[in-house]
Amino acid sequence: MRIGLGYDSHVFSDDPERPLVLAGVTIPGSPGLAAHSDGDAVIHAVIDALFGAAALGDIGSHFPDTDERWKGADSAELLASAMDDVRDAGHELENVDITVICEKPKLRPHVQAMRESLADIMGVDVSQISVKGKTNEKMDDVGAGRGIAVHAAVLVE
Ligand code: MG
Repeated sequence: MRIGLGYDSHVFSDDPERPLVLAGVTIPGSPGLAAHSDGDAVIHAVIDALFGAAALGDIGSHFPDTDERWKGADSAELLASAMDDVRDAGHELENVDITVICEKPKLRPHVQAMRESLADIMGVDVSQISVKGKTNEKMDDVGAGRGIAVHAAVLVE
């Protein structure tokens, strides 16, 4: 068994047209996250946790944000690619546990869709994916509503 930890954070974009995409799910009624890619902080944290579990580096070494190839990239494709790398290295996913921290939007109505989306992208059962939402109790920049922070832990066998 090997464990991996991942973290990511993004600030909300000033562009009101930019959609909020978390775990591959578009969440209505919220500004999107500023980023070179689609800004899917949940998927980015999961990718880093996977690479960490397999000791394969980090998201920046695999998908550098200075590379035009990844501009506006669909993070779901990056996650599928990361899963291929982890499987190629001889690991099978046991489970993923994710905590998403933001004051807004409320994530609970979207948690099941996010779990199903990640299970689909990663080719595992939804029972292997946990997504939890919480606020930062108004502390710090995340608590002031400036952005979203995500922690992810994975176990591989
Ligand atoms: Mg990111």
